[in-house]
Amino acid sequence: MKRGEELYSGKAKSMHLTEDPKLLIMEFRDDTSAFDGEKIEQLDRKGMVNNLFNAFIMQQLQGSGVQTHFEKLLSETESVVKNLDMIPVECVVRNIATGSLCKRLGVEDGLDLNPPTFEFFLKDDARHDPMINDYHIDSFGWATPDEVASMKQYTFQVNDILSGMFADAGMILVDFKLEYGRCDGNLVLGDEFTPDGCRVWDAETRKKLDKDRFRHGLGGVIEAYEEVALRLGVELNVTKIQ
Ligand code: C5P
Repeated sequence: MKRGEELYSGKAKSMHLTEDPKLLIMEFRDDTSAFDGEKIEQLDRKGMVNNLFNAFIMQQLQGSGVQTHFEKLLSETESVVKNLDMIPVECVVRNIATGSLCKRLGVEDGLDLNPPTFEFFLKDDARHDPMINDYHIDSFGWATPDEVASMKQYTFQVNDILSGMFADAGMILVDFKLEYGRCDGNLVLGDEFTPDGCRVWDAETRKKLDKDRFRHGLGGVIEAYEEVALRLGVELNVTKIQ
């Protein structure tokens, strides 16, 4: 498949047109950003690790009945995905309180959340992705009430599937962010699932194995991503991609 014109370039990924209007090429770059793009660095191998990680997770989710935009790996740093009409909201599920939740509500960092909690944020870097609710989404027409219900249902379903996988590999899936889009009348999981968009702790030591290492200058960022990948069984030494 030939990569066409660049359609969009985000902070860590670029989307390219293909000869098929229904398909795009998603390229994972080595760029790593935090704090709405205020801190940016290039981390060697990150594009490759995240592309292979995302492909693995999306395939696991598809195998468990979650519809995703993922079609196939194209190269070490590129995947072919469905061209979705993206909904401009972020869906966050939290199993443990940390990050912005603790700052906002003053709750203890590390508190188990039972049941897990759910939040919507508006995708708007200039306004620091403000938290929004179902009524905002309806009033401003960002998604229909049915789509809102499905985004919650699918995100909790993803949480059930992935929390189990991470637990089996000796890790805790602390929280994560998902984005959805529309394709042929269906709501489909889009964007990515990588350690850039979730928090993962070692189950024994609670060592951070995700982008918090970059956010807080802890070092060993890619080494941690690779450790998560290897523990889950992601094949990182890909010699041939069909
Ligand atoms: O910062 P906060 O605690 O709200 O993040 C919750 C989860 O959502 C974290 O796993 C974080 O990596 C992810 N997130 C993201 N992109 C954003 C905001 C949060 O991937 N723009």
